[in-house]
Amino acid sequence: MYKKVHLDLTILCSGITAAIMLSMSLLYLYISETALNRNHFDSFKNDMNTILMNLENQSTISMEWLSKMEAQGNYTFYVLDNGIPYLYNILTDNSEKSILLEEAMKAYDEHYAIVPSEENPASSFLFSSHIEYTFTSATTGNDYYGCVIEIDKNSSTLQVIILSLLDSLEKQIYRQRVRFLIINIAAIILLTIFSWVFTGKLLNPILENQKKQAQFIASASHELRTPLAVILSSAESCIKASPDKQSSFLETIKQEGFRMSALIEDLLTLSSSDSRQFPIQIQSVELDTLLLNSCEAFESLAKKKSITISLNLPENTLPTCSCDPDRIRQVIFILLHNAISYTKEGGYIKLFVSYNKEQFYISVTDNGIGISDEDKKKIFDRFYRVEKSRSTKGHFGLGLSIAYEIIKLHGGIIGIKDAPGGGSIFYINLPSRQL
Ligand code: ADP
Repeated sequence: MYKKVHLDLTILCSGITAAIMLSMSLLYLYISETALNRNHFDSFKNDMNTILMNLENQSTISMEWLSKMEAQGNYTFYVLDNGIPYLYNILTDNSEKSILLEEAMKAYDEHYAIVPSEENPASSFLFSSHIEYTFTSATTGNDYYGCVIEIDKNSSTLQVIILSLLDSLEKQIYRQRVRFLIINIAAIILLTIFSWVFTGKLLNPILENQKKQAQFIASASHELRTPLAVILSSAESCIKASPDKQSSFLETIKQEGFRMSALIEDLLTLSSSDSRQFPIQIQSVELDTLLLNSCEAFESLAKKKSITISLNLPENTLPTCSCDPDRIRQVIFILLHNAISYTKEGGYIKLFVSYNKEQFYISVTDNGIGISDEDKKKIFDRFYRVEKSRSTKGHFGLGLSIAYEIIKLHGGIIGIKDAPGGGSIFYINLPSRQL
């Protein structure tokens, strides 16, 4: 399931990014190829202008000049004097060249030649003109630039046809396309790797949460099974027992029932905090009164173990604290209950509260068994108990995790440190926000 979601997310993530990247680079490729074609054609036109100027300045066209120009610009020249091939072409002529010339002239005649008309008779050619165009040779399949220059000289018309094979431009475009393909393939591979790692990291907390949920359910079922087993066996024994012994079994059933109900209450609190439906009602609360009442509530329990509980209040009156009084009382009860549970007979528990501009500080100190540094890290985890055997009945390892969630919802901090001389100090920092 996780792997499938991971794979789906990777494909989605890299697919969308790759599609955007490909379309953008295709657009770039199109723009750059158009510019390349235009530049190439413009430079061909410039060359033709230069050649035209040269031709106009020459009284006769020398063969030496023609072959020099051909070699320089990778051009093929044809010169027709009044429609008759010039000597240069006769000397260098071969059948391939003549076919190419025919094709070039055909393309020129079809699309670009100035058709003689009444207003524009053939004799009224400009002194000199030149037309550049592109065409594809039907025999070789190659693309060419062509230019036809017409010069009126000494009552004869000189036609110079210049052809340029576009193979270097096409090679350049081909190389650019290959580079584009390689870069895009590499980018897609990198994107896929990145998406795999990124989505994996994104899914990790969900996976962790899923594991925690499963662990939570397993631990909860385990904890519920014990009182349930006691209830079932007591009920069975109760049915078989004589009437005078039945009451002790019923008492056990009642006690285990209470235990189960307390556990279910804790589970509900934690699950509602997980689903963010944990209601806290912020009010103006007099913390000193709340702490005093909490101490009084635990006095009789502490007395049973000969433990003294004291409350240390600051000299100045405490301002009211913006918090949920019921939830904060619940946290203090958890801390006091734990302190009594894990402190030996004759010990003491001290409650302390102070205030500065930013926060309230509350601490519960005991001189009990204390908690090792290793356990301090896990103490707020759900169902964590330092030593399962050391804990008394009714302790499920959920109290501190509930306290943690409540303080977190108030935007505060709960922590633990060693008490000087042994024992533990649980402290709470509550922000002193105004209502
Ligand atoms: P429990 O319901 O088991 O007390 P808590 O989450 O409240 O669960 O506490 C987790 C564990 O932390 C306890 O099982 C106990 O081992 C340890 N603990 C909590 N408070 C104290 C304390 N004041 N002194 C020593 N150990 C404590």
